[in-house]
Amino acid sequence: MILPPATLGMLGGGQLGRYFVMSAHRLGYQVIVLDPDPASIAGAAADAQIVATYDDAEALAELARRCDAVTCEFENVPAASLALLEQHLPVRPAASAVRVCQDRREEKAFLTRAGVPVAPNLTLLPGEPLPALPSDLFPAILKTAREGYDGKGQWTIHQADELTAALAVSGVPCVLEKRLPLEGEFALTLARSPSGAISALPLVQNWHSGGILDQTRSPANVPALEAEAQRIAEHIIAALDYVGVLTVEFFLVGGALLVNEMAPRPHNSGHPSIDNAGCSQFELQVRALCDLPLPAQADVQPAILLNLLGDLWQDGTPDWAGALALPGVHLHLYGKGDARPGRKMGHVTVTGRDWPAVEATASQLRTLLG
Ligand code: ADP
Ligand code: MG
Repeated sequence: MILPPATLGMLGGGQLGRYFVMSAHRLGYQVIVLDPDPASIAGAAADAQIVATYDDAEALAELARRCDAVTCEFENVPAASLALLEQHLPVRPAASAVRVCQDRREEKAFLTRAGVPVAPNLTLLPGEPLPALPSDLFPAILKTAREGYDGKGQWTIHQADELTAALAVSGVPCVLEKRLPLEGEFALTLARSPSGAISALPLVQNWHSGGILDQTRSPANVPALEAEAQRIAEHIIAALDYVGVLTVEFFLVGGALLVNEMAPRPHNSGHPSIDNAGCSQFELQVRALCDLPLPAQADVQPAILLNLLGDLWQDGTPDWAGALALPGVHLHLYGKGDARPGRKMGHVTVTGRDWPAVEATASQLRTLLG
């Protein structure tokens, strides 16, 4: 067990890292962030930041020297860097697990081997002859194998003859995936500690707009799906021998759950847990990293999360005072300077004693923020 006031290392300086810092601080830990951006928002909240790229061997050695354990807030940290850190201190999740989650090819192959249903898909490489493509794969989505997020690095492909051009534009290995008629999107965030304890947040339902998460309802309130999602997520965690926080994104198609993708970290759709659960996804991340007890999640309040994208700032600063005057509104702004369209600037979670109350406030909030 790694007890406070130990020092924890965080690879990545975005909002997920920032909330990890806040949770770790509340428990009395210190945090050192590694991120190439000297103005990173997690670094601004942390005890110290090492400003360096994620593959800087000297910086990684310094992090290992100054920390007692390390975790990450995004999956694109080079797995080789995590493997290097693993030689010196506990790294959770492990390099082997992050390696699977950071490449859609590995992820799909792993899930298929584990018997977990995924969308029909195949791997394509730019500049190579196309394999025979079943016509029922279309319409399809071409996704870059690595580094995609918020729907970036994705192209809709209606028929096979569009592929060569799209692959040339991507210029990197891709996964071509059948576009499915989604009946719903759900996510489950859970944590596993080194001792093997597991704690899951409630299943949440997600709505995306233009590939970016727009809205989340927590809990999703579909017990049969929740039980199935938990079974699948625990199967994945066991198959990956995973330690840390993992989020599994699900598609509901034909009444059954498929796995879309996995995130080896807390997730945007887990943010309601900051305000509606006894233990947030970030405290779960701290606890799993340090092998502290993982709490059972009971009495989760109904909550709706609305993401605040940079577009909201187009006509000036949004009406925060009006928003905060509404009951059950929890405003989270991440402290990012530049409100670019599509950039996640913050979120609001609305909690209340019942769904009608939460829905009424969320609808007032949507009107207010436009
Ligand atoms: P990202 O890494 O950007 O989150 P995802 O693969 O999760 O990429 O895709 C983003 C969103 O695009 C999904 O949440 C879903 O709304 C939509 N989407 C992705 N793949 C499919 C698919 N095969 N069929 C239908 N919709 C999809
Ligand atoms: Mg996704």
